[in-house]
Amino acid sequence: MRYISTRGEAPALGFEDVLLTGLATDGGLYVPESLPHFSLEEIRSWRGLPYSELAFKVMHPFVDDAIPADDFRKMLDETYAVFAHKAVAPLVQLDTNEWVMELFRGPTLAFKDFALQLLGRLLDYVLEKRKQHVVIMGATSGDTGSAAIEGCRRCEHVDIFILHPHQRVSEVQRRQMTTVQGDNIHNIAVRGNFDDCQRMVKESFGNQSFLGGKTQLAAVNSINWARIMAQIVYYFHASLALGGPDRSMAFSVPTGNFGDIFAGYLAKKMGLPISQLVIATNRNDILHRFMSGNKYEQHKLEHTLSPSMDIMVSSNFERLLFDLHGRDGLAVKTLLENAAKGPVSIEDYRWKHARKLFDSDAVDDKTTCDTIREIYEQNEYLLDPHTAIGVRAARNCRRDPAVPMITLGTAHPAKFPDAVAESGLTVEPPLPAHMADLFEREERYTVLDNDIAGVQEFIAKHWKNA
Ligand SMILES: *Cc1c(COP(=O)(O)O)cnc(C)c1O
Repeated sequence: MRYISTRGEAPALGFEDVLLTGLATDGGLYVPESLPHFSLEEIRSWRGLPYSELAFKVMHPFVDDAIPADDFRKMLDETYAVFAHKAVAPLVQLDTNEWVMELFRGPTLAFKDFALQLLGRLLDYVLEKRKQHVVIMGATSGDTGSAAIEGCRRCEHVDIFILHPHQRVSEVQRRQMTTVQGDNIHNIAVRGNFDDCQRMVKESFGNQSFLGGKTQLAAVNSINWARIMAQIVYYFHASLALGGPDRSMAFSVPTGNFGDIFAGYLAKKMGLPISQLVIATNRNDILHRFMSGNKYEQHKLEHTLSPSMDIMVSSNFERLLFDLHGRDGLAVKTLLENAAKGPVSIEDYRWKHARKLFDSDAVDDKTTCDTIREIYEQNEYLLDPHTAIGVRAARNCRRDPAVPMITLGTAHPAKFPDAVAESGLTVEPPLPAHMADLFEREERYTVLDNDIAGVQEFIAKHWKNA
């Protein structure tokens, strides 16, 4: 399998190189040159498979001969064995033909574990083979950092440095990062805000000379193709559990950077009958505004009760734009260069095509809280604020009540107790058993000034073979 850039100018790469690369050299994102397609008969034959075996069927064509099949199977068995539910991604029924797929049974209680638990293992496998080392550098305002740290804690060939804004992440989120013990794990609290952290990461990728040529940076944000790939699997899993592929399904997906929902779009293109995909956003609704009015325009960042969806632009949306433009990389490049300067639109027929592929909705904080309360009162089931947005959008956008509607449950409610409290409920979502002692565990992190030279010096000094 070969991978090409959405901006058409960077060289095509194989799976291993795509895994180790962040952005393409032309600023684009990598996508597969062509998608595998599965017949209904083949998909039907996967009914009843354990999650890890289904993951092998869906992902193997993307990995191809980069990893021998037996090694890849073993890696997937290990990856999905760490989830705290035998079904890995269990379905919970809310109403007639309405479901939540719980994607928060992994080590950090959010869906990002599905991809990052695998990504850590993939990286270590490939680096072992190549006798190479990488430094992962990332900025986080919460979820991605902890999932990446958990994913890489056992990697021998990876050091991970995660920057978070000092005293500006929640205590649960900070502790999920800083209590993970490992010589290769480095938490840096920057005396600044999230944008400062992100800027330092971006600049460091642009000029890696501070590492002295002895190692290289790798990215774990959702521009990394392997993350999207791992997220395709659970669409097949849900469908097969509810009578697919012999009936089609609808999915509602709480969306920030468009990674998770893009995986659903790919599942459909790979042959899974999906009749509706709902983009569910919070007040940071650039995608909903584009879908409703063909205008792609950055607004100011709003802080909401669903912080993991607080974004100004949606990086993976570029991958969809590439398809909408007939995979013309130069058209995408021009469009996104213009989008950085002001609002842009696409040709009407392309936009109409996008509207056929997706429905969308934006949900504010009050409606999020109302939904948490409503579902709890109906079912004694607690939603986290991100999932609540998905459920609300699913109900608002639903086209056919005969089609099962599945909302992706992206986080455990215990990660976001504030939203639950604000909804007026007096229940307190307990942390699951494997995390119950989070507040007693020892923390390890270094506070540094908001100064890139100091941060780079720290990294250069502290990675394994420095
Ligand atoms: C990351 C995240 C999202 C958004 O996912 P994208 O792939 O960026 O669209 C939604 N909910 C939670 C809880 C998350 O951590």
